[in-house]
Amino acid sequence: MADSLDPALRRAVSDRIRYYNDLGIYDFYRRPVESLVDEFTSVARAPSPAMVQLSTPEIPVESLDMRQVRNSVAPNPVSALRLIREDIGDCTRCRLHKQGRKQIVFGVGNPNAELMFIGEAPGADEDAQGEPFVGRAGQLLNNMIKAMGLRREDVYIANIIKCRPPGNRTPERDECETCSPFLMRQIEVIGPKAIVALGAVAAKTLLAINAPMSELRGRWYDFRGTKLAVTYHPAFLLRDPRQKKETWKDLQMVMKELGLKAPAPGAE
Ligand code: URA
Repeated sequence: MADSLDPALRRAVSDRIRYYNDLGIYDFYRRPVESLVDEFTSVARAPSPAMVQLSTPEIPVESLDMRQVRNSVAPNPVSALRLIREDIGDCTRCRLHKQGRKQIVFGVGNPNAELMFIGEAPGADEDAQGEPFVGRAGQLLNNMIKAMGLRREDVYIANIIKCRPPGNRTPERDECETCSPFLMRQIEVIGPKAIVALGAVAAKTLLAINAPMSELRGRWYDFRGTKLAVTYHPAFLLRDPRQKKETWKDLQMVMKELGLKAPAPGAE
């Protein structure tokens, strides 16, 4: 930024750039000063061809694939995710930072994933390794992903909260409210075609619905324009494997939506 800028203006410009960065916008283009002056001084100008085009689109809006539209204007998701991680920093926004968490567990996987899994909170293994779903529940989640014909690195995995609650207790509501805006930004950057909420905490936080899992699962929800399915948490399935059958039905519903086929038996 030029040194000759007035300090107040310089601060205002920095704030504005940070604001756009927060929205995931990094590239800025300079326009000739005359066009800016024109833009701000002209009153009741005739609409520009671009404006006419916008008001009479040739493509019906409903036929646009919003993922394609978003991808055509979105910045590099890797740097956008890095920025979210930097914003979290060594977080002290809720009590969990002083209750024994070792590190923040941000999320892992393909930044362009079509499918996102969202769990509850890191456990001891995740807290130690800094990666979600790496313990026993994580192994079961890996198997679920494989059964869908995908690899763990194809999808993106995150949690509602990014710090381990002491003794793996259920996250408190205020902890979810404090932390989940970062997850919302991750979802916005990745722009998946579908989200699977694993378990009641994820489902209730994302959907703001209070109902038993048996009622929440088995159907699609609209989550801010993205399809969202709810299924049982893998940790619950370890305790009650009879529910794996219902979970597989949920995953098949997701596979159908994404055009996925289960691998042939014995295929690696
Ligand atoms: N359970 C979760 O909800 N998330 C993890 O990352 C691990 C276990």
